[in-house]
Amino acid sequence: MSYCLGIESTADDFGVGILSFDGKILANIISAYTPERGGIHPREAARHHAEVAGEVVGKALQTAGITPQAIRVVAFSQGPGMGPCLRTGATAARALAAYLKIPLVGVNHCVAHIEIGKLIGETKDPLTLYVSGGNTLVSAFEAGRYRVFGETLDIAVGNCLDVFARDAGLHPEEGMPLGAMVEKLANQGQAFISLPYIVKGMDLSFSGLLTAAAQLLQRAKYPIEDLCFSLQETVFSMLTEVTERALAHTEKKEVLLTGGVAANKRLQSMLSQITDEHDARFCVIPKEYALDNGAMIAWTGILAYQHGMTIPIEKSFVKLKWRLDEVYAPWVRD
Ligand code: AMP
Ligand code: MG
Repeated sequence: MSYCLGIESTADDFGVGILSFDGKILANIISAYTPERGGIHPREAARHHAEVAGEVVGKALQTAGITPQAIRVVAFSQGPGMGPCLRTGATAARALAAYLKIPLVGVNHCVAHIEIGKLIGETKDPLTLYVSGGNTLVSAFEAGRYRVFGETLDIAVGNCLDVFARDAGLHPEEGMPLGAMVEKLANQGQAFISLPYIVKGMDLSFSGLLTAAAQLLQRAKYPIEDLCFSLQETVFSMLTEVTERALAHTEKKEVLLTGGVAANKRLQSMLSQITDEHDARFCVIPKEYALDNGAMIAWTGILAYQHGMTIPIEKSFVKLKWRLDEVYAPWVRD
């Protein structure tokens, strides 16, 4: 059997996954960098990745029960993401490929989220809502590529929730990301406070809404529970509106929800309602594969490798702003 080792390092997570070419996940090890305070500092996250890289690769091989020599191809997240983080993962991948004398494949992080979602969720041709700390997009495959039907014009929805939570004085706890803390408080909220609802065509904007919510926090006029509730209702309604329009337009029969924010039960219930109305199947990707992970890079690496899409080491530079709709994806059929 042939195996691919995939390295993910676009932001705060350093992940290594190992899959067999027939799609069995043998290992998916993640080491997350948690800043002591504030948001992710790219250079510090990259330092974390460099420190743990050897250990995480070793643990993945041990979990998979294979030797490095059994690896046929190495894949890495080539973009989009934070420069220093991407470069650290790319360096580890190049070193492995050179040492083992095997091909290297550069994978688009957003495509990887969709491909692992298709594998895990057993969907064939979904409309995907990918919502995380760094990305917010609605995408489906049309005419040879994953097209972007809607996206954020500024910050990602996960980032909006995280910054709001930090402004409110919340600190991420072990096993409880900031978005999940907002969700917990929102469940106790009752009154809806009106916030800017910004959908422009098929695109979304969260930064003005975040500023407005932060100003309400400062005025200390409303309970935090009501603010969290209102923030969630507003941002998730915006996401659901755009997803529903894309669904009506594409007439896809499956909707895939992935990314860190996919864990949110309120978002899940809003999307489940619209998919029911459109007779589509709704599929939420479990956390292990919805969060940034190495398994998704390995799987997409296998698909690309099988279509001859390897890159020479000297051309394997990272692409910080690599868009999903720029990716040639010959392994998917219309
Ligand atoms: P990722 O960027 O895919 O690693 O996902 C991290 C993002 O998911 C962060 O913005 C988290 O706050 C967010 N997140 C995690 N759990 C939840 C939740 N239950 N509700 C909303 N956001 C969440
Ligand atoms: Mg992450």
